[in-house]
Amino acid sequence: MRAGIEPQPGIMEIALYEGGQSKIEGMSDVVKLSSNENPFGASETVQEVIRRAALSVHRYPSTDHAELRAAIAEVHGLDAERIICGVGSDEIITFLCQAYAGPGDEVLYTEHGFLMYRISAHAVGATPVEAKERERTVDVDALLAACTERTKLVFVANPNNPTGTMIGGNEIARLADGIPEGAILVLDGAYAEYVEGYDGGAALVEARDNVVMTRTFSKIYGLGGLRVGWGYAPKPIIDVLNRIRGPFNLSNIALAAAEAAVRDTAYTEKCRAENTRMRAWMAEALAELGVPSDTSCGNFILARFHDADEAEACDAYLKRQGLIVRKTGGYKLPHCLRITVGDESACRRVVAAVRAFKEQPA
Ligand code: PMP
Repeated sequence: MRAGIEPQPGIMEIALYEGGQSKIEGMSDVVKLSSNENPFGASETVQEVIRRAALSVHRYPSTDHAELRAAIAEVHGLDAERIICGVGSDEIITFLCQAYAGPGDEVLYTEHGFLMYRISAHAVGATPVEAKERERTVDVDALLAACTERTKLVFVANPNNPTGTMIGGNEIARLADGIPEGAILVLDGAYAEYVEGYDGGAALVEARDNVVMTRTFSKIYGLGGLRVGWGYAPKPIIDVLNRIRGPFNLSNIALAAAEAAVRDTAYTEKCRAENTRMRAWMAEALAELGVPSDTSCGNFILARFHDADEAEACDAYLKRQGLIVRKTGGYKLPHCLRITVGDESACRRVVAAVRAFKEQPA
């Protein structure tokens, strides 16, 4: 590279994101359980809507996402004027960092927090700061202690990825009360739909001026490949984020699919119930094999092994059985593997493979 052509400070600190593999050379019958996708895919209704929307790809999509925002507002009982839609919730996280943080500012999250917080902070030249967790659970006291007058954004995923743990509404409110003037609390609800009666902070967003909630269509709605997420925020923040949002950030297929998906509540209910059933079954079966996990509120479990070597060996063993799970060394949990709750047959395959791994002669 020619001398003088340099990226902005912080960019080279970003470790390249390692996307989960979806194939294993020379193997058919491979199950991907590494990206917390819905094993049942998008609903039939949504697939039909996608086929129809594909007929109008020569048209530019809506710029204000009015129909999708109205559907989200109607289904969740929210105010459409406080909703912004993005290319996955990743894009909302990016917008927040672009709009509210820069060189000299701090972006705070927890030590086992979602990787995008760190990436987005570095991308705008801000300093990422990690607070300790307590027993793999967000610790509000540690977050508050880590705040400084330079803190601009505080990200908390609830449930958290990759730990699966969750904190209660009172703790969230305490955090919102305690962060410095001039900082925004971002409640990342990527896994909210897996929690019965989710108390994700919509009321807090409406009651305060410093709380934002983000959500995604990538998980329970089965639309990870279409990239749709949304944020719920006070109107002044929505106004700011809309100024940096590209006018055509979401395709018309993505918009139509997401609208149909959020309205298909019967499908969401079914997926939630099946996830709850198989998550409990898999967690218990693995615990009996000496692989415990914390109670997960998402569509994955964080399986704990004796040490990093055992986790690594089990990951390699599972791959030989056609099972792709997620290593969590990048999340500073090298002794763990994050396993998405698949359909019943996938969960049974995981348990059988871990059992065989554990029973191998030393
Ligand atoms: N937040 C958390 C906690 C996540 O786990 C994910 C997906 N891995 C996202 C946000 C981003 O999801 P998407 O961009 O697909 O909406």
